[in-house]
Amino acid sequence: AVRVRFAPSPTGPLHIGGLRTALFNYLFAKKNNGTFILRIEDTDQNRFVPGAEQYIVEALEWCGITIDEGPNKNGEFSPYKQSERKHIYSRYAEQLVKEGKAYYAFDTADALDEHRKNHEAQGKTFIYNWHNRAKGKLVNSLILEKEVVEAKINSGEDYVIRFKSPENQKLHLQDIIRGDIEIDTNILDDKVLFKSDGMPTYHLANIVDDHLMEITHVIRGEEWLPSLALHYQLYDAFGWTPPQFAHLSLILKPTGKGKLSKRDGDKMGFPVFPLEWKDPQTGEVSSGYRESGFFPEAVVNFLALLGWNPGTEQEIFSMDELIASFDLERVHKSGARFDPDKTKWFNHHYMQTQNNEILAEQFKQSQAELSTVDNAYITMVVGLIKERANFTSDFWELSHYFFQAPSNYDDSAVKKAVKDDTKSLLTEVMSIIKNVESDTAEAYQSEVKNWITQQNISFGKVMMPLRISLVGALQGPDVFQIIFMIGKHETSKRIQAFIE
Ligand code: GLU
Repeated sequence: AVRVRFAPSPTGPLHIGGLRTALFNYLFAKKNNGTFILRIEDTDQNRFVPGAEQYIVEALEWCGITIDEGPNKNGEFSPYKQSERKHIYSRYAEQLVKEGKAYYAFDTADALDEHRKNHEAQGKTFIYNWHNRAKGKLVNSLILEKEVVEAKINSGEDYVIRFKSPENQKLHLQDIIRGDIEIDTNILDDKVLFKSDGMPTYHLANIVDDHLMEITHVIRGEEWLPSLALHYQLYDAFGWTPPQFAHLSLILKPTGKGKLSKRDGDKMGFPVFPLEWKDPQTGEVSSGYRESGFFPEAVVNFLALLGWNPGTEQEIFSMDELIASFDLERVHKSGARFDPDKTKWFNHHYMQTQNNEILAEQFKQSQAELSTVDNAYITMVVGLIKERANFTSDFWELSHYFFQAPSNYDDSAVKKAVKDDTKSLLTEVMSIIKNVESDTAEAYQSEVKNWITQQNISFGKVMMPLRISLVGALQGPDVFQIIFMIGKHETSKRIQAFIE
């Protein structure tokens, strides 16, 4: 059975790239009747940020990505937080040392810096591997006497455990999206597996947990591709079968040049995080899709199409439709360009599918002028204007004239629409409307239109100034709908005010 995991480190808010990784894992799991696991990779204590884990869980929930196993959903493989699994990792590192596949190293951070600088000064890059570890001044158990190593460890000297990467080998790595990748081991360094603080590094904990949790597919961001060679070697060293790997390409800036960053978001006035995030240290607040008025369905839909295509023209997908169509073979190798306008377009689409009463409720909450207005009336207004809105925050701008008479009139509209006979025409319209018997948009429309036809004048001559008198501009839905909504009395008042 398919088992996949989303394995974020709680170092800050989830970027939409991370959210997309979670989504693709989820879609793949559900498509294959598999299990979606959330694993929190918090072994790096220096980078731990309070609130980040909660944020991740809330963001997934908001998107409708349900967790089958995870910190709050304990399953057979719990715990799902690496800091609670600390005791598991060291014996795996020790096992590799015993088998000669890893070794103790005693170099201080300062000494390693020194080596790096000396190499740089000669125009070379320092790599801690077979090329350097047996010569020079590096201090490790591959070149020290056994007794010396034991004495150092017994005296409490700091050490790390490094993986012993081989010389002159060609590795063949498989990636579902990228195909076969060949790596020359001579460019690899002896990565640290276990740190002096008694914690495993990302690499060791990640491999051990993927194995113990019986993960079948690792779907993650492209930034982990450089680690794939080490991960393959670790599976091999432990004698375990590796899962299948799929590395997702980056989400790019709208220009297509480089990775989409928080700064790009700020520049565009567009969020790159699912939820608002307040940095616990600086207090700085970054905007989120949820707080900016995006519907989660829209976010899921646009994220799914960043890097994946269904192979058809279809663009609108519910979560269930995504699950049915998703396929790793259709995930692109190249980066996916982020398009803010398209993102709004998706929100516009999902706006049309929302319940008007619920939208009206939100609208009322957010607009003080509406606090005493009848809910049913607001609901009707929402129904008339939402086809022009991307966000509920557009509602007031699009609908204020349903609640208030215009306080001014758009100059250029007036210039275009008002002629010498406008006043007398509107005076006539006013009295027609007063005398319409049944109070429906259709009745107003047929009376006024019949009269216009009888006068043998153009519709625009009447309809344009009439609209300006009610709305303040040449905008909005059908004029007779507006008359019906605001009522005869208010209509007369507005026409009167306009022609005075
Ligand atoms: N903890 C890693 C991260 O923060 C996980 C990478 C992986 O999925 O292997 O992205």
